[in-house]
Formats: sequence, C-alpha cells, structure tokens
Amino acid sequence: MQEKAKARGFATRAIHEGYDPLSYHGALNPPVFLTSTYAFDSADTGSARFAGKAEGYIYSRVGNPTVSILETRLAALEEGEAALATSSGMGALTAVIWTLLKSGDEIVADIMLYGCTFGLLEHHIGRFGVKVLFADLTDPSKLKAAIGPRTRMVITETPSNPNMRIIDIADIAEICRKSGVLLVVDNTYCTPYLQRPITLGADIVVHSATKYLGGHGDLIAGAVVASKAHIEQFRFTGIKELNGACISAFDAFLILRGLKTLNLRMDRHCSTAERLAVDLEGHPNVERVYYPGLDSHPQKAVARRQMRAMGGMIALELRGGLAAGRAFMDGVQLATRAVSLGDAETLVQHPASMTHATYDPDERSSHGFTDGLIRLSIGLEDYEDIRADLMGALDRIGR
Ligand SMILES: *Cc1c(COP(=O)(O)O)cnc(C)c1O
Repeated sequence: MQEKAKARGFATRAIHEGYDPLSYHGALNPPVFLTSTYAFDSADTGSARFAGKAEGYIYSRVGNPTVSILETRLAALEEGEAALATSSGMGALTAVIWTLLKSGDEIVADIMLYGCTFGLLEHHIGRFGVKVLFADLTDPSKLKAAIGPRTRMVITETPSNPNMRIIDIADIAEICRKSGVLLVVDNTYCTPYLQRPITLGADIVVHSATKYLGGHGDLIAGAVVASKAHIEQFRFTGIKELNGACISAFDAFLILRGLKTLNLRMDRHCSTAERLAVDLEGHPNVERVYYPGLDSHPQKAVARRQMRAMGGMIALELRGGLAAGRAFMDGVQLATRAVSLGDAETLVQHPASMTHATYDPDERSSHGFTDGLIRLSIGLEDYEDIRADLMGALDRIGR
C-alpha cells in the first residue's frame, strides 16, 4: 500500500504550495496575469465553461491564474479544503454572509468584533431581515442560550479586536456542530501560523489579508477558507453576483510574496510583543495590559492550548483613562499613529475614536472596552527601540 505523503512543513508550504516554476518558463515567481477575460478556443468551450462542465478561466471576477495560486496556498496553510481570495477582509465576510443567509435567519456574534464587522451586524444587516444576537462567547453557556431555531451562523474572532479576549474555538465549535449552526472565525489576528480554526472544528475562516498575510501595509485584501462546496458558493454567488469583491492579480502576487516570510515575521512579532507586554505591565502609568501571554490574562490557558504563540497585538489601559491615552499617542516618536495592524512598522491607535467608533459609548461599555483603551500592533523594529519609545511616551504622560 502506498503511504500517504506527509504534509510538508508550514514554511515550505508558505513558499512553494500551488506553484511549480517549471510550469511557467522556469520563472521563480509566479506571473501576474493582468487580464480581465480569457479566450475560448470555440463556442463549445465557452458554453462548457459557463455550465461548469469544463475547467478553465472565464473572467477575472471569478478566477485568475495568479489568484488561484494564492488560493491554493492559503487553503494549504489553514488546512482547509479550498480558499477564495477577495478584495478586502470586509469583502470576504460579506461574501460569506450574503451567500448563506436570507431574511428571517439569525446570527449569533461575539460582543467584541472588528469595528466594521460590528457596524455591518449592528447597523445594516437588519434591513435585510437578518437578526443578530450578541453574546459573550468567552462563556460557552451564553452561546447555548443564544442559539435558537432560526440561528444559521456564529461569528467570532479570537483574540478579539481590540481587547484581546480569547474564545475557546473547540468548545464553541462543538456547540455549533450539535446545533447544526455554521461557525465562522475571523483569524486575522493569528494567521494560520499561530492558529488553525478549521482543525479545531470551525466551518469557515475569514481573513483580512491586508494585515499579517500581506504583512507590508501596501494593499487591501481578504480571504475565505472553507469546504470546496462552500467556496464554490462564495465564488459563484458571493463574489460573482452579490458583492463583486474580487482581488486584483497584482495584490494576489504581493500577498504570495508576503507569505514567504509569514512564519519568520510572526515569530518576531510574537517574541517582541511578549517581552514588551511584561515591560508595559510594570510601568506605573499603566493600569492594565491585555495580552494573552501574560499571567494576568484570564484565558491564558485556552490561548496556550489553541495558539502556537501569543501574537503581536497588545491593548493597554492607562491610569488617567482617555486623556492619558491621547497623551501617550501624541508622545510616541518611533511608533506610527495609524489604524491597521500586522505591518513591519509598530502602529498605535485609539479604538474608541478610530477603529471602533462604530460602537456608541454605551455599546463600548456594555461590550467590554473603555474609551481609554489603546491598541498597539508591535512591528518588526528592534525590541530595544520599540521599548524605549513606548516607555518614554508613558514616562511623559501628565508632565
Ligand atoms: C482589518 C480587519 C478586518 C477588515 O479587513 P479589511 O481588509 O480592512 O476589509 C476584519 N477583521 C479584522 C480582525 C481586521 O483586523
């Protein structure tokens, strides 16, 4: 009997999966197919492709050879069956939601979400007859209570943006499976290098590839990883006919380039963040640090079980609340005041007035984060330099 080929390691897959240079003139890097449409050798071929009876490309909104390489690679890294690359993280999420849900269906979502995901669920999707219940998914009994006969989908992120709560994916996946509900996990903060939700029982993974996957702050893109059947639906209904959020071949190429160093970059983001979280926690002007690698984090055991390392994102509560937070942000000199995350540059932002301004003040407090919270995306600069910058800005608060 033939032994099943052992899956190659993460870094090897991130560099090689889905592309053979000898299939394209030996070019080490894949060609960027800048084409909107594809010639058919006959009318029959064209109609067979449209009918789904023949392989081959039709139009770049639904498929492009450069994009296909990226999709194969992302599926291999997440250990899912198939992937769909999209023009943004929000394009990925809406392709999933609009394809699978109809008026009368319900979503259960965690209370802490990326701001625009929250905006979509809280302020817009109700107009289409889809109801959303928010529940604190760090407590699985709250999920059980929220799921009803019309629930079709559970949406969560872990660690959650911005305050680094951890959701036990295997636990909630089990509840979803028993209830016949699909579990959608936004894995942007972790990337498949740190956490693979599908291997823990999730059905659908979405990404903002704008962040760590691209890794260089030079593009906006997203992805979905799921079963082949779901990806077909998201491609031919979601992207093709509902939201049109297709990725450009050039951006797909840039993400393929970024993926080659994903594991190296993540190792560095994580090791620097882990040291900085301890340093920050020790500063007298810091009230609280939210980082799953700290002993003070309430869900550190779950984090250690499901994540390879604790990530590059840190949230901070300063003594003196909002005013202190603003002084800190204005006090940094190396870190960049900017939203987004996962770049080589250390970024600092204020969720209540920036990424999470979609939550009104009452929602912010009832969903568990304060107006004083500061979010840091730890970059790839030298640890000593980032440390000196952040500690200097903390020292100067109130002076
Ligand atoms: C940025 C982000 C998104 C949205 O992605 P875009 O590429 O900006 O559309 C979704 N989820 C999380 C966790 C994010 O950080």
